[in-house]
Parts: sequence; structure tokens; C-alpha cells
Amino acid sequence: MSTVLVIGAGGVSSVCVHKMAMNPDIFSEIHLASRTKSKCDAIAASVKERTGVDVSTYGIDAEEVPAMVNLIRKLGPELVVNLALPYQDLPIMDACLEAGVAYLDTANYEPKDEAKFEYHWQWAYHDRFKEAGLMALLGSGFDPGVTSVFTMWLKKHKLKTIRQLDILDCNGGYHGQAFATNFNPEINIREVTAPARHWENGQFVETPAMAKRVEFDFEEVGPKNMYMMYHEELESLAKFNPEMERARFWMTFGDEYIKHLTVLQNVGMTRIDPIKYKGQEIIPLQFLAAVLPKPETLGETTKGNTNIGVIATGEALDGPNGEKGGEKTFYINNICSHEAAYEETGNQAVSYTTGVPAMIGSAMMVTGKWSGDGVFNMEEMDPDPFMDMLNGHGLPWQVKELDGPVDF
Ligand code: NDP
Repeated sequence: MSTVLVIGAGGVSSVCVHKMAMNPDIFSEIHLASRTKSKCDAIAASVKERTGVDVSTYGIDAEEVPAMVNLIRKLGPELVVNLALPYQDLPIMDACLEAGVAYLDTANYEPKDEAKFEYHWQWAYHDRFKEAGLMALLGSGFDPGVTSVFTMWLKKHKLKTIRQLDILDCNGGYHGQAFATNFNPEINIREVTAPARHWENGQFVETPAMAKRVEFDFEEVGPKNMYMMYHEELESLAKFNPEMERARFWMTFGDEYIKHLTVLQNVGMTRIDPIKYKGQEIIPLQFLAAVLPKPETLGETTKGNTNIGVIATGEALDGPNGEKGGEKTFYINNICSHEAAYEETGNQAVSYTTGVPAMIGSAMMVTGKWSGDGVFNMEEMDPDPFMDMLNGHGLPWQVKELDGPVDF
């Protein structure tokens, strides 16, 4: 039984809060605060209607550390769950340290004027959390999040070491819009337009954005083009699996998405540096995000499945009598239906596949199944209890052995 304070009221937060309310034995009191209080109220109303649970709501700017400290002290949560934007990670971590409360998020800190997707700012908080006897868990979404847990589960139960790793993120959903993003457009477009980076022989290798494309036949979706890009879990996976020769991240995009993005990029609409417009400073990507469809409005029309997983090749664990397993390749993944996610929580599967792991990571922390003093990534925790909860809370997974390593 525990009290939690969730920050942010977008699609991910909506799913997480609904799922917390469905588990009152773990989350006995839920508070929700965000910049726009009316969005918190809308989530609370939906939660009440679907589950009968009351969620209390507050308006707050999470970048105002003293106001956050006051709110945390007033509510006395065991855990602050940060589901706002990556820009708020550090101020929320500062507020947690000052108020003496544990912290969880789903995306690493980003400075507003640079697209970096690096953990070092948050890893630098390790000693302060350790000294305060508090835990901070980073990246408890799907990717990062479940993809790291999948990898570590394979390393615990199937493979002694991992030689090569490919993360495959497929969204086979169709929302009927010419161009829209399935989560916060500003963060999504920053990720996609950044140069690709993959891990190879002990270092990151940079290549131009969206330059490497491969067609892959995804179960319950069909063949899709996927593009190699950088994603933040590659940094933590490489840190905690230093034996890896190669690790890559792939995401599917339709031709229409690529066409629109290319034009927007070519005309300068994806820039994140400020420009002067009619005497006022604006950031082109923020302006673009303001005119694009809001991800939380796509739920009703999105049909199809997501299929996100990990293919790992390495030296298999020894058999029961010590016999050598040789090199093996495993594919572990989850398939999630947009329609089913919408039916259950009023949100599409991209929010669902992030909000459910945020709830599970929170459950791991407040029940003490995962614990520690300091700042931790998902790779450092026992994957088993998290994997059990995925199966029981809407994101069942499957694992199969492939004939050999990927050949793309
Ligand atoms: P949304 O843009 O839909 O929601 C973000 C929410 O944060 C909004 O309610 C917004 O308020 C609020 N917010 C923004 N700034 C502040 C602030 N200064 N103070 C308080 N609240 C603020 O995003 P999503 O729900 O799509 O994504 C949420 C997070 O999840 C993001 O960090 C995203 O990167 C991450 N994510 C992680 C994934 C993973 O698999 N690990 C996948 C998808 C997303 P307002 O309503 O006023 O704008």
C-alpha cells in the first residue's frame, strides 16, 4: 500500500494512472499534477468512470523546484513518477532529493536547445541519491525500459554473454492522418532527425539519420521498412553488457511519414534553435508540434498492432549436465493492439506500451522488489518480477529461438 505522485498528464501518464488505479492493493493513493490542471482532471474523471478510484489533481510547473518540493511535502508520496517531458527530469530529481522521496522516469534528460539523448546528466546524481538513501530508476517505459529488461532476461535465462543485439520497434498502427506522431511530437522528431548511432567494437559509430533501411516481416503486422537510428537504451545496454560486439536500434516508418519529415526538415521546421518571428523568439520544432495532431487524440482512430522486441545472439547457457550450448539466437517481443489499448484505457498502444511499464517499474519500487540507494538503469535490476507483471498487466511477451543471427 503506497502513495504516489505522478507528474505530467499526456497519453503515457493517462495509461499509467489508469493502470495504477486498477491495482489498488499496490497503489492505495494516487495524486496527479501537471502544468495544465484540466488535463489531470480529465484523466481523473476517466479513471473514476472506469475503475471507481479517486485521483486527486494539482496544477504545477515541474521546473519550479520550490513549488514541487512544497507539493511533495504536502502529499507525502513514497515515489514521484515523472511522466512529463525529458526537460523536466533534472528539476524533478532536485525536488525529490530536497523532499526526500524516490524518483522514476521513462526518458532521459534533454537540454531544450540540444538533442543529445545521453544519460550522463542523470548518472551524475548517483552519489547524491545514494547519500540520501533514495532510489531513482531511469527509463521505465518500453524503449527504453522493457527492451532493457528483455535483454537482461535473455542474459539470465538463455545466454551467458551477448555478442550482438538488435532492438526492433514496429508500430503497425494506422491513424488515418497524413502526418502525426504517436507520442510527444517534439521529442519524437528530435529522435528521428538526430544522426544514427550504433555500438560496434567498444564505441559508438555515427551515420547519417535514416540512411540504413531494412525490410522486416513483423508477426501480426506484416512486412515493414525499419530504419537504424540512435535510441538512449543503447548507452545503458553497452555500459552494462560491455562484451557486446554490436548493438543497434531499428524503428519502422511508413513512406508517407518519411516524405513529410524530409520536407519539414528541408524547409527548417524541425530546427530546435530559436529564430526571430515578428519580433518574438520561437523554436520552429515547438511551433510545428503545436500544429500537429495531439497524440492523445489519435487513440480513437488508430487500428493495428505494435510489435517491439529484441533479437540477441550469444553463447548459450550450459545444459543441465554442463554441456556447452554453443552460439544461439533468441527473439523476445510483445505485440500490442491499438484497439484493445484504447478500449481499456482510452489511449493508443504507443502510450499504453510506455504507461504500463511505468506502472510496473513503480510497483517494483514501492513493493521493494527492486531497491537500492542511488540512480539505476533497468539493466541493473532482476528482470524476473518485472517480466511476470508484464504478462499479468496487458503486455504479454513471447520468446523463440531463431535459426541464426540476423543477416541485415
Ligand atoms: P505528452 O506531450 O502527451 O505529455 C507530456 C505532459 O507533460 C503534458 O501533460 C504536459 O503538460 C506536461 N508538462 C510539460 N512540461 C511541464 C512542466 N514544466 N511542468 C509540468 N508538466 C509539464 O507526452 P507523452 O505522454 O507522449 O510522453 C510522456 C513522456 O514519456 C515523455 O518524456 C516521452 O519522451 C516519454 N516516452 C517514453 C517512451 C518509452 O518507451 N520509454 C515512449 C513514449 C514516450 P501540458 O499538458 O500543459 O502540455
